[in-house]
Amino acid sequence: MRTKIVAGNWKMNKTASEAAALIVEIKALTAEVANVEVVVCPPFTDLKDAAAACAGSHVKLGAQNIHWEPSGAYTGEISAAMLKDLGVTHVIIGHSERRQYFGETDATVNLRTKAALDAGLVPIVCVGEMLEERKVGQTGDVVVRQVKVGLADLDVGKVVIAYEPVWAIGTGLTASPTQAQEVHALIRRTLAEMAGGDVANSVRIQYGGSMKPDNAKELMSQPDIDGGLIGGAALTAKSFAAIVAAGA
Ligand code: PEP
Repeated sequence: MRTKIVAGNWKMNKTASEAAALIVEIKALTAEVANVEVVVCPPFTDLKDAAAACAGSHVKLGAQNIHWEPSGAYTGEISAAMLKDLGVTHVIIGHSERRQYFGETDATVNLRTKAALDAGLVPIVCVGEMLEERKVGQTGDVVVRQVKVGLADLDVGKVVIAYEPVWAIGTGLTASPTQAQEVHALIRRTLAEMAGGDVANSVRIQYGGSMKPDNAKELMSQPDIDGGLIGGAALTAKSFAAIVAAGA
């Protein structure tokens, strides 16, 4: 049995004080939900206040990126130790916006994921095809490549994967439960090739892409969909909590 995991990717939204207030609301609204791991991923500048707001509660704290070097001349970057020191437990890696706007590749996803694993952080590794790739039937090839290269030579049993079709992110378009399940099953088969069936069956694979309270339950009822990575709907406590409840 895989415990569902619902994570909020706040992107570049919320100041530190707004983040703390939102977490207080999320804690209250999700306190009664059993068997769903709840994670919030605010911007770096919010993490200290967010950690204080999460302290002692069921809400876990994630970051939105990590650099692979432990320290040094990497202006603007944040290391695993810096995140750990603030009480961060999870980190989103290879989000499509990072790949699209900031030049991240499967190779850098691999380096970042290794750094996270070495530090004992749980990487949430994002994969997913662009609309043009889906249209020409390349979805499977793209996602399998992202998983194989992004997780090459790593302990895949310790990662969470987020399948996020790029065309569904922030667009209001959602993959149908059948479309999503098909890709999730392919990802699990790929993990089985890489690390064996037992490991593959233990890995949580989230769906992300316009998941909302009204479509969350059907998506998360699919056999290989183990939660959600939520963007827009994670910015208000009520909608995020409704998605968490849909995973229970
Ligand atoms: C995301 O950015 O990871 C995401 C899934 O966004 P949204 O829910 O807004 O589509």
